[in-house]
Amino acid sequence: MIRKFISRVFRGKPPAQRNDEPVVIPVSSHGITRDRISSGSRRTCETLQAAGFKAYVVGGAVRDLLIGAEPKDFDVATNATPEEVRKAFRRARIIGRRFQIVHVMMGQETLEVTTFRGTLDTNTKTDEHGRVLHDNVFGSQAEDAARRDFTANALYYDPATETVLDYHHGVGDLKARTLRMIGEPRARYREDPVRMLRAVRLAAKLGLVIDPEAKKPIREMADLLENVPAARLFDEMLKLLTSGHAVKCITQLRDEGLHHGLLPMLDVILEQPMGEKFVMLSLANTDERIRLGKGSSPGFLFATLLWHEVLVHWEKLKAAGESKIPALYQAMDTVLDVQGEKLAITRRIAGDIKDIWSLQPRFEARAGKRPYALLEQPRFRASYDFLVLRAQAGEIDMELADWWTRFQAVDGEQRAAMLMPEQSADKKRRRRRKKPAADAVDRSNAE
Ligand code: ATP
Ligand code: MG
Repeated sequence: MIRKFISRVFRGKPPAQRNDEPVVIPVSSHGITRDRISSGSRRTCETLQAAGFKAYVVGGAVRDLLIGAEPKDFDVATNATPEEVRKAFRRARIIGRRFQIVHVMMGQETLEVTTFRGTLDTNTKTDEHGRVLHDNVFGSQAEDAARRDFTANALYYDPATETVLDYHHGVGDLKARTLRMIGEPRARYREDPVRMLRAVRLAAKLGLVIDPEAKKPIREMADLLENVPAARLFDEMLKLLTSGHAVKCITQLRDEGLHHGLLPMLDVILEQPMGEKFVMLSLANTDERIRLGKGSSPGFLFATLLWHEVLVHWEKLKAAGESKIPALYQAMDTVLDVQGEKLAITRRIAGDIKDIWSLQPRFEARAGKRPYALLEQPRFRASYDFLVLRAQAGEIDMELADWWTRFQAVDGEQRAAMLMPEQSADKKRRRRRKKPAADAVDRSNAE
């Protein structure tokens, strides 16, 4: 029904650059009844409208509903100022970042409410590359629509009338499976280089084709990402990696030349055959988990992405005579220092990453009490999953991962029977002690 309607309304209509009047699409055509949006977003719109303001569900949620995807969250746009929004709700607070927004709490939901943004002008503060630094000038709804990135993201849904307001031919573009930039793509990428990453992510996630006009400049403008603050890059990378389409996203990033300097070293990792195999396996695994609704921890993800860098440093340090475990810790710190700076990996996530990495050598110990102690580690599960990935990628013997799979599954008696003889470990320890560079954890490897 939607398709039929769209082709009727939009056949032959060229995409507009700046439309003051939206096309109003009734529910009989688009089919999105108000029960399809979250109750929190509906109540937020109703409250604002009752207070005399305009309020719509906007952006990704409307786009996703139109193409039959499950929206991730429901954002609201309004002509009320942040202060007016805050006052209209019992539980709401203004979040001041690059864009000032209001978080409205409705039961379990937190809604992001944004005030319509005005047109950028010569007074807008930018950096020397044209990236917009401050953006809190409010404007009309038409101006707000023109400020959004892609036509499919500039759609407004009014729960009261169940209509969709379309300023930039977004519904038609969606129907044609095209992700089209509003305005001149180069200018829009200069204003905000993250839009290049958004283009790749949204296209991969929604099965859309990036319009050639928007796609062409990406390769030559990729360097602009270097000026984007680390925290913003981290947020976007996380969205990309947890989109459920990470393999497609990363493959496309590489095709567009966007992987250079993004995750610094992502290019290096993907260019080593072993590294690429491991990262791609890990991303396929993450995609699968997310599609099954199992979620994925950022710590685990970044631990896998950076592991081969750790291996490279670790090997170098060991070759230089450093003993195994101190060398691992040093390699971990080196990699996290470099990545941490560029990506603003939070302290908590860095802690998770280190836990997963530092437990890896302990899987080699299969005698005595140590396997039992490892099972009790709070990060055992993630570390074990990580070990399995390493085995699947061919970095370590599958036999070790299989041993741990079985060790967890069997009962107490069988577990005890699986243990490697302590004796041989002792012997090995004694043998190794003679060598100056050996250390305690080394001994149990592949006994
Ligand atoms: P997702 O499915 O990941 O939530 P989304 O399009 O909803 O996708 P959000 O980051 O939630 O992404 O942004 C909400 C809306 O805000 C977008 O649909 C778009 O209209 C606008 N927007 C977000 N980021 C930008 C940007 N960098 N430039 C212009 N408009 C943006
Ligand atoms: Mg969204």
